[in-house]
Amino acid sequence: MHDDLRALIRTIPDYPKPGIQFRDITTLLLDEAGFAVTIQRMASAAGPRPDLIAGIEARGFVFGAALAQSLGCGLVLLRKRNKLPGRVTGINYALEYGHDRIEMHADAVPPGARVLLVDDLIATGGTALAGVQLLRDAGAVVDRAAFVIDLPDLGGAGRLRAANVQVNALLAYAGD
Ligand code: AMP
Repeated sequence: MHDDLRALIRTIPDYPKPGIQFRDITTLLLDEAGFAVTIQRMASAAGPRPDLIAGIEARGFVFGAALAQSLGCGLVLLRKRNKLPGRVTGINYALEYGHDRIEMHADAVPPGARVLLVDDLIATGGTALAGVQLLRDAGAVVDRAAFVIDLPDLGGAGRLRAANVQVNALLAYAGD
């Protein structure tokens, strides 16, 4: 399925470090029709219109913004630390080596808002789970997440499902 889109995604071996197959969506974005079809298919799979989309910095902003326009909803930015000018709420999460932090404006999400989480790719799920936690701590209802690419061997989609989040990804790259 979606082999037309798979053909537009470039794989760069050993980036950013040896052993990683980097799935590069910049080549998909360069293709006007491919980008448009990606958003149409993400929109079709999205289910009922959410109140907001939450895009994860930085490639989640690209797909999240386009999907928000397509679905007719607003967009909340989940950003790296110290990027947002207003009062923020944030969450630290573990990476393979070290840790990271994402933040959002504390007043961005009304309690009870139904939020669809969006990123380009889910690998271990650490980033997406941190986003879910941050949004839920603010009172949002987060029961769906959408990605262009899933790396199923890294288990992130399973971790999201275990947290009661339905996962939609257009493409799976097994063996990564
Ligand atoms: P994770 O938290 O492990 O699910 O990693 C997801 C984040 O890292 C996403 O924002 C992806 O853009 C990026 N990422 C992880 N692995 C890859 C990969 N193999 N190719 C491209 N991006 C990746």
